[in-house]
Amino acid sequence: MSTESFDIVVIGAGIAGASVAAELASTHRTALLEREEFPGYHSTGRSAALFSESYGNAAVRALSRASRDFFFAPPEGFAEHPLVQARGALHVARQDQLARLESFAANADMTGQVRRITRDAALCLCPILRPESVAAAILEGDAADVDVAALHQGYLRRFRAAGGTLAVNAQARALTRRSGLWHVETGERSFRAPVVVDAAGAWADAVAELAGVAPLGIQPRRRTAALVDLPEGTESARWPMVIDIDETFYLKPDAGLLLISPADETPVEACDVQPDEMDVAIAVDRVERATSLTIRRLRKRWAGLRSFAPDRSPVIGFDAAAPGFFWLAGQGGYGIQTAPAAARLAAALLRGQAPDESLAQISTAELSPARFARPLKDIA
Ligand SMILES: Cc1cc2nc3c(=O)[nH]c(=O)nc-3n(C[C@H](O)[C@H](O)[C@H](O)COP(=O)(O)OP(=O)(O)OC[C@H]3O[C@@H](n4cnc5c(N)ncnc54)[C@H](O)[C@@H]3O)c2cc1C
Repeated sequence: MSTESFDIVVIGAGIAGASVAAELASTHRTALLEREEFPGYHSTGRSAALFSESYGNAAVRALSRASRDFFFAPPEGFAEHPLVQARGALHVARQDQLARLESFAANADMTGQVRRITRDAALCLCPILRPESVAAAILEGDAADVDVAALHQGYLRRFRAAGGTLAVNAQARALTRRSGLWHVETGERSFRAPVVVDAAGAWADAVAELAGVAPLGIQPRRRTAALVDLPEGTESARWPMVIDIDETFYLKPDAGLLLISPADETPVEACDVQPDEMDVAIAVDRVERATSLTIRRLRKRWAGLRSFAPDRSPVIGFDAAAPGFFWLAGQGGYGIQTAPAAARLAAALLRGQAPDESLAQISTAELSPARFARPLKDIA
């Protein structure tokens, strides 16, 4: 078996791997390895597809803000249609949740995007909400639906156009470092490069362990979603996404149907995760309690993995103990909306350059794997 030589091998072609590979391919010979036949089969193809600058912790919000321009004004020729469509996100609180709404509103960096609206205005925006389930509400008017497939395909197209090599059905099964190069074996092919990028989503720790690198404790958590019917004639296209302020459920119009989720976060092993019937039933129950809907039929149900580092911030940076091993992992429930900035930041760090102006608000130290104390492992 001959070995193919590259400058960088990226493992995992979901949104994280595809976006960083696209950033790198114009300057580095880059290989992008994907275990599945179709990149996007796992978390990237299973999201709720929302861009919201108020979602997630401060590190996530900074990455989302720095991604905004890409979504709303992508580079010429990146996609045939706009990547985002106006949606809005309505955060609702019952009487017993008002304190939580206050602390959500108090995040200083969010004041520009969110505003309080009256209860009547909230009920007008989404008329199926029961009056008793809305004591107060906050609207993030700028939140938008993302065309995730267009974003992902746009990056993959850009990657190939710049001369990148995409290998599908190519699971990294062995990673060894010899004479300053990582050797990545997929069974049928062999790749070598001084640098590997671990963008393996829920399998990020597993890939690290293959390489003899200490894992970070990235935990995959199952999230369930379903599409349900709305009563005939319902004009739902302009409803915002509605999110319970404690994130115990959300709902969002989706091409005449309604996407619902119990916003579950069940820790599971990395796998091709399937929905649990109990979680689907919980979603139905919570949405029925909060709205006037009676849900009789599920059109579709699915689950995906949101994978979190222990502090719920993404991990972007070289591993201090493993030369040439770079982490791009732990994107949690925000990997779509943070991808453009995360990819630019990762590419700058991989090139050994200072991140550009658009990333000035992002703390590389807060995202670095060095923030976790871990046992050292021997790297050959
Ligand atoms: C229900 C749900 C709703 C969500 N909603 C949103 C949302 O509204 N907005 C948002 O921004 N985010 C959302 N997310 C989160 C988002 O989907 C993820 O953060 C993002 O898709 C992670 O991308 P990724 O590339 O890291 O992972 P993945 O898409 O899982 O890609 C990782 C890839 O690595 C491959 N791989 C693993 N091991 C190997 C190996 N050894 N060799 C080769 N390839 C390998 C896998 O096959 C996989 O394709 C949601 C997630 C879920 C489940």
